[in-house]
Amino acid sequence: MKTKLSQRLSRLHILRSLKVRIFIIILLVGFIPTVLLRATILRTYMNRAVNVRINDIQNQCKVIANHLLTYNYLTDNSSQIINAELGMLSDLYDGRVIIIDQSCNIIKDTYGISEGKTMISEEVMRCLKGEVTSHYDAENLYIEITTPIVDTTLKQDSELYDDEDQQTQVIKGVMLTSVSADNIQTNLELLKSRAMVMQTLAAILLIAIAWVLSQILVRPFDRVTTAISGIKDGFQTEQISVPDYIETEHIVAAFNDLLGRMKVVDESRQEFVSNVSHELKTPITSMKVLADSLLQQEDVPVELYKEFMVDIADEIDRENKIITDLLALVKMDKRASDLNIESILLNELLERLLKRLRPIAKQRNIDVLFESVREVWLEADEVKLSLALSNFIENAIKYNVEYGYVKVICDADHQFALITVEDNGIGIPEEDQEHIFERFYRVDKSHSTEIGGNGLGLAIARSAVLMHRGSVQLESQEGKGTKFFIKIPLIYLRSQEGK
Ligand code: ADP
Repeated sequence: MKTKLSQRLSRLHILRSLKVRIFIIILLVGFIPTVLLRATILRTYMNRAVNVRINDIQNQCKVIANHLLTYNYLTDNSSQIINAELGMLSDLYDGRVIIIDQSCNIIKDTYGISEGKTMISEEVMRCLKGEVTSHYDAENLYIEITTPIVDTTLKQDSELYDDEDQQTQVIKGVMLTSVSADNIQTNLELLKSRAMVMQTLAAILLIAIAWVLSQILVRPFDRVTTAISGIKDGFQTEQISVPDYIETEHIVAAFNDLLGRMKVVDESRQEFVSNVSHELKTPITSMKVLADSLLQQEDVPVELYKEFMVDIADEIDRENKIITDLLALVKMDKRASDLNIESILLNELLERLLKRLRPIAKQRNIDVLFESVREVWLEADEVKLSLALSNFIENAIKYNVEYGYVKVICDADHQFALITVEDNGIGIPEEDQEHIFERFYRVDKSHSTEIGGNGLGLAIARSAVLMHRGSVQLESQEGKGTKFFIKIPLIYLRSQEGK
């Protein structure tokens, strides 16, 4: 049972090959017409041969039928000439001739076995009414023909036109001729066997052509596979090209597109790794410089030690922040199924965040305002969302000016929670706006480092928003301020989760 099933499956598997399909199609397209042609030719030959034979015999029978009347054979069957003619006819066609008179009595049978008997058959009756019949019995291989023996006398009718003759036809009897169709069948068999040989040769040729064509036609696809394997194995780095078919061109174009995107991803990964290394190295280098300078000096005053130690501690904090942020980023890169979704009152969450950040803002006399347009409940991962929103708000404070303001608006429409984080700080130059969500991207490196940034905050924030299937937009003018518009679906779409 199991083996039968697996056999069937493996057969089906073969049918999934384009090569096999092309092979079968060419074979069928070539083979079916030859089979039909052979059958048609043989049938036509058969019909034609039988018809020619029937015509021949009918003509001869007509001549003999006339002679029968001339020699008055129906009343006296002793005529040597007629008997010889009948004998010749039956010998020639390997058949039997029976002469029947008007009363269905058999006058003559060339086989000599039915003379004196009566013959009543449908054909004979129809023939006695003047109909010529012929019948081919394909099973027993004989042809039966009935020919009426017609006595035609001409009568001059004086009442009609002078030259008008009136014919009267009287059927005096029937000639029933049955001849063998053996030789027709023999010829047919010969033809059949020749056709079979031709057909076999054609089939062999067809198989060869089908095989060669299936190989040739599928070759470009093999070339695509080889080219892709070349890239996979690292032998080839360039884009591939197989312009043989429009289809292969499409496949290759799609593949090159994918390859291009993979290269971009790979480059960005490499850049990320080098950025990470660089960022992690900077605080360490500073610490090393600070420590070395302390070690190289003798009798260093305690105050200097303390001052350097404070700097070293700052660098450790910086390193720690980078590592914490990197870990957060890695978490954001994970699958959406890692989200711990719960129902959150957004207004409350924002107020909590602002409460925590207000003291930092106060140090620079920055006003932090909160506008709650309506109560907004949404389904989200509270930890990740808090991290994202606090990054936006922290930035608004960090990149602000003395006595500036930060305004957070909490609103929603029927589908999305809408959070606006607005500031009137330093703003972002237009050329930098498309890059600020990239990892480690900072508009002004020195300024940002001084403020305490590492370029990861917005990357983390945006990843968190995207994980919630939300979006972030930005409006900013250098020197005037920045507005971030964050949009998050109120209902988390679980159906797409992790798929
Ligand atoms: P960082 O840790 O340096 O703040 P972010 O990813 O949070 O990194 O921000 C990237 C850069 O975008 C920052 O270095 C800063 O130059 C710019 N930026 C972000 N938010 C603001 C803002 N509200 N106003 C002005 N510039 C901003």
